[in-house]
Amino acid sequence: MVVVRLKPLEDILREVSGYGKVFIFGCQLGSARCKNGGLREAYRVAGFLESKGIKVSGVKSPGGTCILERLTSKDVLREAGRNSDVILSLACGAGTQLIAEHVSIPVLTGVSTLFIGVEREGKHFDEYCIACGECVISETGGICPIARCPKSLVNGPCGGAIAGKCEVDPSIPCIWYKIASRMEEIGEIEKLRKTMPPKDHRSCIYPRELNLEGRS
Ligand code: SF4
Ligand code: SF4
Repeated sequence: MVVVRLKPLEDILREVSGYGKVFIFGCQLGSARCKNGGLREAYRVAGFLESKGIKVSGVKSPGGTCILERLTSKDVLREAGRNSDVILSLACGAGTQLIAEHVSIPVLTGVSTLFIGVEREGKHFDEYCIACGECVISETGGICPIARCPKSLVNGPCGGAIAGKCEVDPSIPCIWYKIASRMEEIGEIEKLRKTMPPKDHRSCIYPRELNLEGRS
């Protein structure tokens, strides 16, 4: 999922101050799952802004905000545009931009989009993928060395690990230890003898697109 973090409420207040009426969008996919931008947080932000004298003209969280169909089919955009001076979006960067494409008033963001990650117990999220466009995890036991090694090394460890901990950030394991023990476990350790070719960085030149037209 896309992981986002709600900005401090005082920062949000500063951003919307001077605009007049604010319409707040949450997102029920990643933002809600992270408890940082779903309907509940949207109402919390609304309550805070109202307590500071900001007029909130509406609060909505239209399913996945980054899905055009959902965003436009519920008339939420028309409602937001009507009687509002600015939109505050708690959706990820993609959802927020999609909103901005469809309204003629300013759109601000109340979150920072952090990474593609997994959710663990206790509402903890870890970055697992940077969408590099050329996935290599079939060769590394299903563990990503690009997102989970601070140096994105794909042909083994840098040699700086101390007692299995990463030299860049000792609070995390050296992911190459995990990859090696996983490859042992699944009987594929020999695969690691193979040198991976240099990455073709053309697969991650922005902006990228995917067109599935014509596919059933
Ligand atoms: S190699 Fe890692 S960063 Fe690249 S697509 Fe696969 S999981 Fe994502
Ligand atoms: S210690 Fe391991 S995880 Fe850390 S930078 Fe080196 S190879 Fe990557």
